[in-house]
Amino acid sequence: MKKFILPIFIVVSLFTSCGNNQQAAQPTNQSPTQNMDTSFDRYKEAFIENLWKMYPGWASSQGYHKYDSVLVVPDDAYHQKEIAFAKQNLDSLKKFDISKLSSSNKTDFHILENALNGFIFNVNEFKDYEWNPASYNVGGTFADILQNKNESNEEKLRVLYLRMANIPAYYAAAKKMIKNPTIEHTDLGIKQNKGSVDVFKGMMLDSLRKTHMGAHESQMIEARINESAKALEEYASWLEKEVKPALKKETAKSFRIGKELYEKKFLYDIQSHYTAEEIYKKAVQRKDEIQAEMLKITKEIFNKYFPNVRIANGFTKEQTKMLIDEISKKHVKAADFQSEIEKQIPMLTQFVSDKNLLFMDPKKPLVVRKEPAYMAGVAGASMSSPGPYDKEGNSYYNVGSLANYSAEEAESYLREYNYYILQILSIHEAIPGHYAQLIYSNQSPSIVKSIFGNGAMVEGWAVYSERAMLESGFGNNEPEMWLMYYKWHLRSVCNTILDYSVHVLNMSKEEAVKFLVEDAFQQKQEAENKWKRVSLTQVQLTSYFTGYTEIYELREEMKKKLGDKFNLKEFHEKFLSYGSAPVKYIRELMLEEKAAN
Ligand code: ZN
Ligand code: ZN
Repeated sequence: MKKFILPIFIVVSLFTSCGNNQQAAQPTNQSPTQNMDTSFDRYKEAFIENLWKMYPGWASSQGYHKYDSVLVVPDDAYHQKEIAFAKQNLDSLKKFDISKLSSSNKTDFHILENALNGFIFNVNEFKDYEWNPASYNVGGTFADILQNKNESNEEKLRVLYLRMANIPAYYAAAKKMIKNPTIEHTDLGIKQNKGSVDVFKGMMLDSLRKTHMGAHESQMIEARINESAKALEEYASWLEKEVKPALKKETAKSFRIGKELYEKKFLYDIQSHYTAEEIYKKAVQRKDEIQAEMLKITKEIFNKYFPNVRIANGFTKEQTKMLIDEISKKHVKAADFQSEIEKQIPMLTQFVSDKNLLFMDPKKPLVVRKEPAYMAGVAGASMSSPGPYDKEGNSYYNVGSLANYSAEEAESYLREYNYYILQILSIHEAIPGHYAQLIYSNQSPSIVKSIFGNGAMVEGWAVYSERAMLESGFGNNEPEMWLMYYKWHLRSVCNTILDYSVHVLNMSKEEAVKFLVEDAFQQKQEAENKWKRVSLTQVQLTSYFTGYTEIYELREEMKKKLGDKFNLKEFHEKFLSYGSAPVKYIRELMLEEKAAN
């Protein structure tokens, strides 16, 4: 699944000029609307350039390499610059009359305003730079820059040589900023910074050996690479030997962020028209509905799989679990895993077209490939889409290889991605899920949306598309397919319940694992991994269900309003045409347009 990460990082800046230096729109013969749009487009362009000056590491990770040589020192002065940058740009936004902007710019306006308020929230209230030692780690961006295909190793190493100069100051600032770390984020900071040492001693030294630089230059670079690796090791060791031992379970800051911060983070990251609490309640209700549906199916087909088992006291979740385990035995062979997925893509495309769900442009086929080495280890399947500065790039459906699995691990994995779930996975990742959404969003290109795109809309669409496919008869309405769909869907629903329960309602680890195993039919290992994720992240786990709920409800609302005139294909295409904008704004625009007709 695509991960959405809000940029709160610790990169940044040669801060030159910032924010609101866009010129006023020149008088033209255009209509007032075009005029406002032209002026807003110009502002956006200047804003993005200033954003990259402010956050050069973020720029590098997006494929914009102008500021690769700059490593920002994340101290208090820098945080004040961030605030000033956000405030100046919020002021600039006020100069635009939003009612005169095009639909695409209206949503861009809202997205920018939200992101800027989110920056201020992060610095002034969320303050993870004080409690999350893992928020300091220079490794990722160095790796991103090294993977830039448009420059030679020599060029990249010279730029990285400059970038490395600030690493000691960077970690000195980190040590000063950390005030009340949580135990969990301290452990993560240790692990990840140790891991990043390999970017220097491995990746960078390797690529240095492949260059033909003079001995002197090469030695200078090598010395700085070694110094940098040492700074990372020292930071990790400081966390391990000085910070960690002083943290006591009873008194250390909790990783649970509590109701007030949770609601605010939800507001900025998810941008729903619901509160977090409302979504939590909807998720609990949805979980009950799904479990009831699963029980119905269990009653219907249990004896087909267990002809000799008699149920004396009525069916319960226990039989549902038995049934899921049994049906999961139907799966492809390890060797056929990728070819099976390759076969699914044209089949899904055909189904979407036969059932009139969505027009799919046949000119941009999806490339299914074996997961590249640098992604290996993250088993499963994922979508890689081209970044905002790589418009012509391919989209890849990456399929994890099972080659390094033991027979037992492979079997467990294949049961999880069994015959039914594997198809639902391809619906989610590819067609009509993430890949289809991406094609539509590329038709109305917006750099703002490709950088600040709404994760809840993107994930919500993929989750919604699973349901839309099954409702259209995908899988021939076989009860097995529906049962497996519900199990899959429960994961999104329970992610939301779990996240809110842990961060706001103080759910314990034991309760969480029990909940996922019993209520969501997960394996113990999967539940333990989820616990880890919920203790290190906040709010992101709610994006799937929140987006799904808002899209599904919007569809039902439009159906009611349009009656006989409602057309599913038109609804889907219209919805996707707004790009990766928060559903609440797409909803406003669609209802507005409907009212105008
Ligand atoms: Zn996803
Ligand atoms: Zn098997």
